[in-house]
Amino acid sequence: MALRNIREMGDEVLNKPCKEVTEMTPRIQDLIEDMIDTMYEANGVGLAAPQVGVLKRIVVIDVTGEDLHVLINPRLVETSGEQTGHEGCLSVPGKSGIVTRPNYAKVVALDEKMKPIELEGTELLARAICHELDHLDGHLYVEKVEGPLMDVNYDEDEECED
Ligand code: ZN
Repeated sequence: MALRNIREMGDEVLNKPCKEVTEMTPRIQDLIEDMIDTMYEANGVGLAAPQVGVLKRIVVIDVTGEDLHVLINPRLVETSGEQTGHEGCLSVPGKSGIVTRPNYAKVVALDEKMKPIELEGTELLARAICHELDHLDGHLYVEKVEGPLMDVNYDEDEECED
């Protein structure tokens, strides 16, 4: 397994639009494997290629730890409803903020074999889909935060938030 360095807010690679993947290559296969390893190692529920410094339209998502999705050139085709809740990002370590997202999202994409797939989800999966797709256009969730960006604090004296 190979871990890649996660780029943090302030790194300009996170603010650039990503390019479509036109063909699967061994190099891109390696990138995807590394993104999966890096996401799990960091206990993340999703990771986009620009977060490891690669401006390609690839995201990996797993909101349960047992439901991995690799999305290449994903495109949001349907959203509905609304959810407001905490959101964080591996590129903004130690912080969290309140963001409103659709409660349902559906994407079309390509899988690792460049075959068309669809993925739809609600709640956390819908949130993760929207969050990761934003990365591909150079956007971070902090642009959408309602109220202050908060410190994520594991101090026992602090009350846990839902
Ligand atoms: Zn993120």
